[in-house]
Amino acid sequence: MEVEVTNIMEGIVRERLEALLAEVDCCKCEKCMGDMMAMSLNMLKPKYVNSLKGELFSRLDSGTWQNTVDIDIAVTKAIKTVSEHPHRS
Ligand SMILES: [Zn+2]
Repeated sequence: MEVEVTNIMEGIVRERLEALLAEVDCCKCEKCMGDMMAMSLNMLKPKYVNSLKGELFSRLDSGTWQNTVDIDIAVTKAIKTVSEHPHRS
């Protein structure tokens, strides 16, 4: 049997990134958003769950997540950094 785990922070960060980007006037191409995602996730502690339950957990957690402020700070920082230097890497 193949065992896999999922980092549910990915889904949460993606959600927050889309929400926060809606209020920012900057490049929102795939490359910039990918850079922002990666940068945000590198600033945050990953949260792994069993993939079999991953879908369920990510839905539960994105609504009741306690560290939303930390996540927003990391995502905001990533948006600022990438939008100041888009398409650099
Ligand atoms: Zn771009």
